[in-house]
Amino acid sequence: MDHRKVIIIGSGPAGYTAALYVARANLSPLLFEGFFSGPAGGQLMTTTDVENYPGFPSGITGPELMDAFYKQSQHFGTDFLREDVTAVDLSSRPFKVFGSKNSATCDALIIATGATAKKLEIPGAGEDGFWQKGVTACAICDGAIPIFRDKELYVIGGGDSAVEEAVFLTKYGSKVYIVHRRDKLRASKIMAERALSHPKVEILWDSVITKIEGEKVVGSVMLKNVKSGEENSRPAAGVFFAIGHKPNTEFLKDQLETNELGYLLIKKPTTTYTSIDGVFAAGDVQDPRYRQAITAAGSGCMAAIDTERWLGEERIES
Ligand code: NAP
Repeated sequence: MDHRKVIIIGSGPAGYTAALYVARANLSPLLFEGFFSGPAGGQLMTTTDVENYPGFPSGITGPELMDAFYKQSQHFGTDFLREDVTAVDLSSRPFKVFGSKNSATCDALIIATGATAKKLEIPGAGEDGFWQKGVTACAICDGAIPIFRDKELYVIGGGDSAVEEAVFLTKYGSKVYIVHRRDKLRASKIMAERALSHPKVEILWDSVITKIEGEKVVGSVMLKNVKSGEENSRPAAGVFFAIGHKPNTEFLKDQLETNELGYLLIKKPTTTYTSIDGVFAAGDVQDPRYRQAITAAGSGCMAAIDTERWLGEERIES
């Protein structure tokens, strides 16, 4: 089995940044980029314009940004495997990492596998229906698409994301409805007030969408009141899921401590140390709060520096 001082799992901003720093420290990292689990590059690969990544005053597309991250980490000597990690064995060192084709061992492991936006299996919402034809899980990524302009849009969820996305979508839609399954928002007070006071946002309480219909793109939704059972069809151009994210940690099979939502726990505050010595976590897999490309990249850098110092302390020098 190939042995490396450092293996990185995950190819979003966190993974590539960790690889850049580890490679520049002459530690020859191996990075598992993923394959069936999602495109190499992570969530930004399905994003159009990224306008909030510093350094690009005119914006940059998500795939262009990730290509630059990839090339920069490659330039300094990262090796890549375009395959998923199916399992790891963290019970003893060296750690074992099992890919779908290749396996390897390492002294230190950086986990940067990100999180996936949750979707609902509503008729019409899937790949065989209107997924990416008006149905998406990222208003901030897709809101500016012309099909949403001056149309009625529906955001599903009742948390901070739903409110944030609904308010964001008011820049494009004629009216934005938040469809929430119960009669109280989960969102923080300040965010809830933002939704309740916005003239273009209306909350549809105790409601769910039971069907999405249209021709080439979304044209209407079937809305059901869960208390009265009443259902009616309403015009709609977009349906945005904002029902939370799921951290990508299944392959770890409970070997690391997580919070109640499955996010990896950082055991030493303000570092990237997990519950196992020598295993570090970076990016959205450990961050339910900020979830930005820039914060993921920052924590990738932190993980690489923590890793390098930890290897030094363990006298596993380059
Ligand atoms: P969240 O707080 O977990 O809220 C998810 C929402 O989706 C809840 O209202 C939940 O309903 C609803 N939901 C879940 N499963 C559903 C289902 N199967 N059908 C219908 N509705 C469903 O997730 P989030 O809003 O993405 O926020 C995640 C974290 O990021 C939070 O800590 C949040 O504060 C933070 N955040 C902060 C900001 C900000 O401050 N600007 C912005 C975005 C996110 P119930 O309420 O009934 O459970």
